Amino acid sequence: MSLSPQLNPNSKEPVITRADRRLLPELRELLILTDHLSDIARVGSLGNVTYQGTSFPLVTVAFGPEDPKTPVLALFGGVHGLERIGTRVCIAYLRTIMELARWDRSTLEMFKTTRLLFVPLINPVGMFAQRRSNGNGVDLMRNAPVEADHMPWYQVYGGHRISPSLPWYRGKAGAEMEFESQAICDFVRREIFPAKVAISVDVHSGYGKVDRFWFPYARTKTPLPNVAEVCALKNMLDRTYSNHVYRVEPQSHQYMTHGDLWDLLYDEYRVQNPQGRFIPFSLELGSWLWIRKNWRQMFSLLGVFNPRLPHRVQRILRRHVPLFDFLYRAVHSNESWIGLPQQKLERLDRQGREIWYGG
Ligand SMILES: [Zn+2]
Repeated sequence: MSLSPQLNPNSKEPVITRADRRLLPELRELLILTDHLSDIARVGSLGNVTYQGTSFPLVTVAFGPEDPKTPVLALFGGVHGLERIGTRVCIAYLRTIMELARWDRSTLEMFKTTRLLFVPLINPVGMFAQRRSNGNGVDLMRNAPVEADHMPWYQVYGGHRISPSLPWYRGKAGAEMEFESQAICDFVRREIFPAKVAISVDVHSGYGKVDRFWFPYARTKTPLPNVAEVCALKNMLDRTYSNHVYRVEPQSHQYMTHGDLWDLLYDEYRVQNPQGRFIPFSLELGSWLWIRKNWRQMFSLLGVFNPRLPHRVQRILRRHVPLFDFLYRAVHSNESWIGLPQQKLERLDRQGREIWYGG
């Protein structure tokens, strides 16, 4: 069953041909997994992106009810083609869930009321061509029609319109969004916007010393309207997994960007669904964790963004399973952080503002 018949209603194309499968190990792994999912999940495609005569599908996997109003956790990866580990982290959790779906009664019980969506590889062409951008040289996470506050001209990494040959290119002013960014936005509007409770995580890598768990905004240092709910989630994470590794903070604490898809979708959701709660997080894996053990990786393009030695890859792949489990439970048992009494919300709002915004 396809999750996205709207995108390519007349397409008779198979999800992917056999020859294509050999090109990209992450896509190959994902497709092999999806071959074994038909009895427990819904596998779909947001369409195909063609590059140098090869067609790459944007694969989706959905567990739980079909009704898009049900609470949902959605995991995204591979927006930036160099950050292969993000896709692998999503696939590792997909593997865990696949297995749990075969024997664990509590997971099956959660599937009755709570959805779990995966889009592990948003930019397969970038990953295939070993570049950050998509096939048109556009950085998909700078591609939304969103302008940042006070961006100095020299901060090109925040998004620029100089040239697609430089990284962080936003695309031409006024142009339509790239196929991949549009496909993600359409998917989120269709599968997440109807839900009253939603969390998404977009997995990236290559920045800094620690694993950061970012929430909006990327475009401004202004607090997001859901400080209280994010603070409630942070408190739950701190108490439930007291030794967790994450630094929870607004993305703009580290740097601001133009064109962030999650800024766009977060604001749009709030207008359409003022009673609902959708928190789009980004998980930014700290590359120092693998670079400090292997300095030579500093000098390779992929090495900066990905661990190389098998045991380090394994360590990163298992490191984030508890976080995703926690978030899935938080979406399922959402009365613990949504719809709290006004007094408690105000206290959480004050606490969040003190932690992240200087009071
Ligand atoms: Zn990234």
